[in-house]
Amino acid sequence: MPLEERILIFTPTGRDAALIAETLHRARVDSHICESWDILEREYTLGAAAILVSEETLNAHGARHLHDMLQQQPPWSDLPVMLLLGRNSDASAMQQAAHAIGNVTLLERPMRVAALLSAVEYALRARRRQYEGRKQLLALERAADDLSSSERQLREAHARKDEFLATLAHELRNPLAPIRNAMHVLRRKTPDPGLAPLHDIIDRQLRQMVRLVDDLLEVSRITRGKVALHLEHIDLASVLRGAVETSRPLLDAARHHLTIDLPSESIVVHADPVRLGQVFSNLLNNAAKYTEDGGHIFLRARALGDEVAIDVEDDGIGIDAAMLPTVFDIFTQVRDANARAQGGLGIGLTLVRSLVGLHGGRVAAHSDGRNRGSRFTVTLPIAPRVGDVQDARHSAGPEHRPLSGRVIVVDDNRDAADTLAMVLRQHGADVQTTYSAMDALSILVPGSHIAVIADLGMPELDGFELARRIRADPANAEVQLIALSGWGQLEDRARAVAAGFDAHFTKPADIDALVALLTSRTPPLCPPGGRPPNERLADQAARRLS
Ligand code: ADP
Repeated sequence: MPLEERILIFTPTGRDAALIAETLHRARVDSHICESWDILEREYTLGAAAILVSEETLNAHGARHLHDMLQQQPPWSDLPVMLLLGRNSDASAMQQAAHAIGNVTLLERPMRVAALLSAVEYALRARRRQYEGRKQLLALERAADDLSSSERQLREAHARKDEFLATLAHELRNPLAPIRNAMHVLRRKTPDPGLAPLHDIIDRQLRQMVRLVDDLLEVSRITRGKVALHLEHIDLASVLRGAVETSRPLLDAARHHLTIDLPSESIVVHADPVRLGQVFSNLLNNAAKYTEDGGHIFLRARALGDEVAIDVEDDGIGIDAAMLPTVFDIFTQVRDANARAQGGLGIGLTLVRSLVGLHGGRVAAHSDGRNRGSRFTVTLPIAPRVGDVQDARHSAGPEHRPLSGRVIVVDDNRDAADTLAMVLRQHGADVQTTYSAMDALSILVPGSHIAVIADLGMPELDGFELARRIRADPANAEVQLIALSGWGQLEDRARAVAAGFDAHFTKPADIDALVALLTSRTPPLCPPGGRPPNERLADQAARRLS
């Protein structure tokens, strides 16, 4: 019989214990006689259905023992105690004591067998119900454990997916760089008007790919909490006009009529112009994508107290009421709309909502249903006017001058290095190409080369080490060091600057911004408290690409 079904008997004087044990044995109830509190405690920890103690064991010392023992019970347990009263017991005093102990049944003397057996039967039944409760509790705990382990697995899978997206986007960027460079060269070399439409197609599709890759990278960064905003006080109208410029190719390709309605007074927001521009160009791109050719698109802004509401509205295919609440969820695409989706991934609106949220704003979608158009409203806090307000489109950007001087391009991706060299030659530079950092070091002549443009991830000697070695020689102080990499996060830029680079461009680099940087006389170092002008140029480039 399992130990948990036992009755533990502790009645140290006389023959009570033996008689009770004998009676229980006949009734097929298992019991165990304990000679002391210590033995009782030990046996209890091994398992017991109930205990039977006599009144005389409950002197001051004994009562404490019993109390301590019962205190340590697990939450499911309420051990039945049968208290065998003395012949001259003060029943009411004992009742009070019993009440203090807990689950106690009093057994009076002389004790009749039937009374004993019925008390024991009652205790056993109560105890079995407790065991049942314990079983359910354990099952619940196990289920909770299983749940938390599957939640952990889910979280790990999520983290792996985010890592995968980031790596995928990075890897996809590498081949885009030589394609863009080659395109640039071809366009300048073959100004044949017959080829222009083909160039335009490649250009458009390339931009679309860059946009998709950037969206992927961006969304994985946001979900990993790795997006840092560069906030400035900025004129909202300039952000909106920048976004329109970005979306112009899509709007024009579908011959949409765009109406812009902005308040005459300027509205200042505290925002990252690049990120906020992304929000509105994404919404405008969607309006263009999900509206039949020749449609009408409206971009409106209106101040509402200390907030500004910006509507991007179209008279396109609209959104079903059932889909509206989920359009901002990642990878959501309305099935019937896919014919017009033109290769979207269903992450644009997720990005919009995340970026707006990072700016302390909110975004809502509205549609009266199928073919009744859509309206997306972004609400942002208006910033109090302080200091200089930047114009998002024209805040940086040195004049273009023809490039002159010797430049080293180093990239272990030969296509990327060769095509970039061709581009720079077209702009007038004298370019030497190498495919390893060691070669770049060996051909660099202080005072002769004006710049080294280096990939960061290269075998043997990487771009960071190359920069450190170049900077270690004071004779190279004037050489401009420009990093080109598939990784464009803030910490990647910071690492590049720490290694000695003056600027960091994300692949595929915007050629105009790169040439502008090479020709500029912008001081290479970051002004105190500000961002390096080069970074702003690179950001401008990113905005134009997104
Ligand atoms: P994508 O455009 O890449 O599919 P988004 O996250 O930008 O992803 O949009 C999610 C879905 O929301 C789209 O697939 C489309 O069905 C719907 N949608 C977004 N904007 C509009 C719009 N202006 N009109 C109609 N449907 C839209």
